[in-house]
Amino acid sequence: MFAGIELGGTKTVCAVGTGPGRVEARAEFATQDPEPTLREIAAFLSRHKFDRVGVAAFGPVDLRATSTTFGHILNTPKQPWRGFDVVGALRAALKTEIRIDTDVGGAALGELTWGAARGLQTFLYVTVGTGIGGAAFVNGRPLRGLLHPEMGHLRIPRDADDRFTGSCPSHVDCLEGLAAGHSMAQRWGASPATLAPDHPAWALETRYLATAVVNWLLTLSPERIILGGGIMEKISLDALRGQVQALLNGYCDAPELVRPALGRNAGVLGAIALAAGETARPTL
Ligand code: ZN
Repeated sequence: MFAGIELGGTKTVCAVGTGPGRVEARAEFATQDPEPTLREIAAFLSRHKFDRVGVAAFGPVDLRATSTTFGHILNTPKQPWRGFDVVGALRAALKTEIRIDTDVGGAALGELTWGAARGLQTFLYVTVGTGIGGAAFVNGRPLRGLLHPEMGHLRIPRDADDRFTGSCPSHVDCLEGLAAGHSMAQRWGASPATLAPDHPAWALETRYLATAVVNWLLTLSPERIILGGGIMEKISLDALRGQVQALLNGYCDAPELVRPALGRNAGVLGAIALAAGETARPTL
């Protein structure tokens, strides 16, 4: 048995099991400040037996094994979490081995192990929800370097008719600042969940996402891009594919654009896959 923790920006999901066919227990609660969130995780996991823990955490997070701040949350806009030692706090509370990746890195591993990326070497997992994030597997390995990819903060051209300033606290009008769920809510003055399918918000959102897909494609050459997240659920894949092909203008083929096979459980199952792996994943 393995424990998986998806530590998301707005909610935390914990599960104990060995994979999609065998989840023995699952719990979900709002992500609060570090101390109460850790208390809820520890209270749930203390009721179960498992060998290791995998964490798929919102980022940016330090994944470099040799770094003195390995497993710490880095420059997040969520102030109470900035600099918080997730791995250290969980190890102290649970007294077991803790493995960590980003939330999207976990979801990518889950899709590679059991879902829409099985058998692939080079693919992306992107989530478009409250925020936007992406993870890349390149030649069968998670792409790492200076940090981990931060695909949500891509600089993209602003739509000529878009008068919304942008909402990213670091870059104002990066992809996330223009197209994340919180940006849509600010631009249109309404929760994206309440916007009708024919609202102009969705055509604009599709154009922004197509631009990002083209940039990811031209940089990393993925065979497939898995697109998850609450906002993405409302975007037509056919419309997005059409925009991508129009932007590519025949230069190369578009990658396959698919939805996650593991649905909203990709993150927590990925955390279980991280814990279940034979050895800790290579970091830097
Ligand atoms: Zn940004």
